[in-house]
Amino acid sequence: MTTRTISIFGATGSIGASTLDLIRREKDKWRVVALTANCQSAELAALAKEFGAEIAVVADESCLADLRDALAGTNIHAAAGAQALCEAAARGADLTIAAIVGCAGLAPTMAAIEQGGTIGLANKEALVSAGEVMMAAVAKHGATLLPVDSEHNAIFQCLQGYRASDVAKITLTASGGPFREWSHAQIAAATPAQAVKHPNWSMGAKISVDSATMMNKGLELIEAHHLFPVGLERLAILVHPQSVVHSMVEYRDGSTLAQLGPSDMRVPIASCLAWPARMDTPLPPLDLAAIGALTFFAPDEERFPATKLARNVAEAGGAAPAVLNAANEVAVAAFLAGQIAFTEISAMADRMLTHGIPAAPSTLDEVLAVDAETRVRARELLELA
Ligand code: NDP
Repeated sequence: MTTRTISIFGATGSIGASTLDLIRREKDKWRVVALTANCQSAELAALAKEFGAEIAVVADESCLADLRDALAGTNIHAAAGAQALCEAAARGADLTIAAIVGCAGLAPTMAAIEQGGTIGLANKEALVSAGEVMMAAVAKHGATLLPVDSEHNAIFQCLQGYRASDVAKITLTASGGPFREWSHAQIAAATPAQAVKHPNWSMGAKISVDSATMMNKGLELIEAHHLFPVGLERLAILVHPQSVVHSMVEYRDGSTLAQLGPSDMRVPIASCLAWPARMDTPLPPLDLAAIGALTFFAPDEERFPATKLARNVAEAGGAAPAVLNAANEVAVAAFLAGQIAFTEISAMADRMLTHGIPAAPSTLDEVLAVDAETRVRARELLELA
């Protein structure tokens, strides 16, 4: 049996755990190169030992001593810091899962792309921020981007074997999040605990809040714009509370292809792990008779303005998506820390975009500079220390 090598950036997170759950079931097929975390050293060390990783990296250098202690007596190399993350990515692997949350995952994802391998991309903030720069690197280095995000993975599957020029419309479905039926007043008073309680998916805190504001769908619109360049006017969003239809592609002959599945990230992750073949997952088959009804609604951009904001940003291009993403990351962190109200997240991102957009970045360093500057301005705007 041939083994493939894999690295997982963000191994201690929700996507990391789902990926490792699948790998654990087929351990003889995989050799783990690098596993990374931000600071959860004990968890990372346990995973690195279980999977026999070559290297374990924490982004936060203050967590290296703990990681080293936890890996004492093994021959697993321990490293820390932003540079170490990029070096781990540059080791190359047959498949790199990019599952760090936020723009913090951008540089290692780019380092993996530069190796020309296959990248399973969950880290949407990286693609949103670096857009053209990342897609140019993918083309230049002959890398393959496989979308892990369930909607993009669904679209990717529905596009197999067909010409993009025959696509009439791509529809991203959205659960609508936990506040889908809430009034303006209820949304304004939403707490972090309520926002992270997603009705269908179990995910990390940041993407859960993004789902509640619908910024997640806005970021996904920008992500789709880069992954499937059919033109923004052909990208649509439809609220589908059951999260069974993960997205759809309509062709010019009137056929619409959709991908359906349980709302469990192991399905799209399995599709990336096995691509272009298929593999078993431990999930029960979809029981449509038990589900009964699938419903669809147009998004309400009055209560959830983030999707409109993201569409405008995608149209503007240049540095605007990186500004939107960084402003959103700062605002979500502030909301989760109890420093701002829920509705302030989208409002703040909107205000940041009217503050003047920097020149379009054309290199990774320029994207990272836009990200860093925006974070400083966003924190000032929110009057955070
Ligand atoms: P989690 O918060 O569960 O995990 C995030 C991972 O990134 C952890 O391993 C964390 O390490 C690490 N991390 C956090 N901050 C940093 C940093 N500054 N530098 C390096 N590593 C860091 O997130 P999710 O797994 O939910 O999401 C990961 C990505 O996948 C996001 O971009 C999200 O949008 C995307 N995604 C997630 C889905 C889901 O179902 N969860 C679905 C589709 C996309 P530590 O544990 O040490 O904090």
